[in-house]
Amino acid sequence: MITVRAVPILSDNYAWLVHDAPSGATAIVDPAEEAPILAAIEAAGGRLDLILLTHHHADHIAAADAVRARTGARMVGARADAHRLPRLDAAVAEGDTVRLGGAAARVLDTPGHTVGHIAYVFDDPSVLLCGDTLFSLGCGRLLEGTAAQMFASLRKFAGLADDTLVCCGHEYTESNARFAVHADPGNAALAAYAAQVTAKRAAGQATVPSRLGEERACNPFLRAADVATLADLRARKDNFR
Ligand code: ZN
Ligand code: FE
Repeated sequence: MITVRAVPILSDNYAWLVHDAPSGATAIVDPAEEAPILAAIEAAGGRLDLILLTHHHADHIAAADAVRARTGARMVGARADAHRLPRLDAAVAEGDTVRLGGAAARVLDTPGHTVGHIAYVFDDPSVLLCGDTLFSLGCGRLLEGTAAQMFASLRKFAGLADDTLVCCGHEYTESNARFAVHADPGNAALAAYAAQVTAKRAAGQATVPSRLGEERACNPFLRAADVATLADLRARKDNFR
């Protein structure tokens, strides 16, 4: 039974602190800024077992070596990107399991934003740590991969429950909502959700984690029925202001 909490870092990134209460085991996902992450670890009991990396971008890995040096945590990341990640203690790929105390995360290969991007899924409760693959009301830019890869990656989340917590790498929801409403103006669930997002941001609150069911109802990228639709949405979003 794990708990998960967002640690705001840099300008709009989130690292995620995952805590297995029965064992006290703790993991941090994408630690890119040292001070707030060490403070969050301290607040959770001072122990860090695992550093889980989703992809190689600096805004996700910049403080990983420093956090390892301070805590002795094991570093876990994508085998496919081991050459451009900090030194990994466990190089993983889809099908692998990462143990955190009495809990375990499944690894999914989720290329698209980068070719070696991975996501982690805990099942009790259902938590998806998806880096820059899926955002609330959006998805990652196709910086290395193709629309077909991103489409296949998003499809991998189809088997997860509606109440899955979507723990993404950025607070991009408000700008994503503007594009989503523009792209899908007839979606009443989206309109209502976008209004909630605006209110939360006006109050200085995080909009994440969201629930996968909300994304299924509202997120045009997750709702795209085929690769061509996703490619078209992604291209339009890249040029939207
Ligand atoms: Zn990225
Ligand atoms: Fe990022």
